[in-house]
Amino acid sequence: MVENLPLKTLSHAGLTIEGYSRAAVQTYWRISELKLGFDLGAQPWDFMGTPNWFISHTHMDHIAALPVYLARRRMMKMEPPTIYLSGSAIAPLNDMLNAFTRLDRGKLPCKFVAVQPGDEIELNREYVVQIGESAHTVPALSFLVWHRKNKLKEEFQGISGTEIRDLRKDGIEVSSEQRIPILGYTGDTTVAGLDNMPELYQAKILITEMTFVAANHSKEKIKKNGHMHLSDFIEQQDRFENEVVIAAHFSTRYSDSFIRRTVEKALPGLLDGRLHLWL
Ligand SMILES: [Zn+2]
Ligand SMILES: [Zn+2]
Repeated sequence: MVENLPLKTLSHAGLTIEGYSRAAVQTYWRISELKLGFDLGAQPWDFMGTPNWFISHTHMDHIAALPVYLARRRMMKMEPPTIYLSGSAIAPLNDMLNAFTRLDRGKLPCKFVAVQPGDEIELNREYVVQIGESAHTVPALSFLVWHRKNKLKEEFQGISGTEIRDLRKDGIEVSSEQRIPILGYTGDTTVAGLDNMPELYQAKILITEMTFVAANHSKEKIKKNGHMHLSDFIEQQDRFENEVVIAAHFSTRYSDSFIRRTVEKALPGLLDGRLHLWL
């Protein structure tokens, strides 16, 4: 294990959230159980084995490590990874990768998949990622991971395995798909990004941003810059049905202790202990 970057970890509902996020510094998240990550602002050495990445937007603190990640995977003889992102970013990113290939004299293979709000990406039989639209200063996406299970329909509950088999043989659908939102990620956004895909408020775990906390900021300016303020969380506090809400991407103008004090004062109990400040 090589420790090259800061990293914080939280385990909940069978998922391990690892990541770091400070505005204008770098943002990266990984959930190894789902074999996926969000954003490539930097790339801890140990994240390289994760093959699927969802990019919220292309501000540098969310994308700058793409060539580094691709070069490491190629060096370690791993398959080219799949990068899901807004289609408008693909041509400029290819230009950037070509420039790095000239500088570094090494190929940077990867598979870009253009996605847009409303799309659904099937990761495998169990997990689907729904794409939403965040509200930021460049095209920005949010992501919601659904866990799907086939559940026996109510009318067939309590019948024997043989009977179920016979019904299936007759071509009768005995089960239906049940979906549970397990993980949401908004990237950088105003509160509109949450409202655009309200199921984000229901995900077991929500990773989102709270860039500003101090009282003396202009609300209009924060909104114009596509971010959230602590006051948005105060206004929306009854809407968060999540078991865990991770607030990250704090501005570097604050110290950790100032952020903790300010948020704890404004939201005593931190949403019944569900709100985690990623510091
Ligand atoms: Zn950012
Ligand atoms: Zn941004």
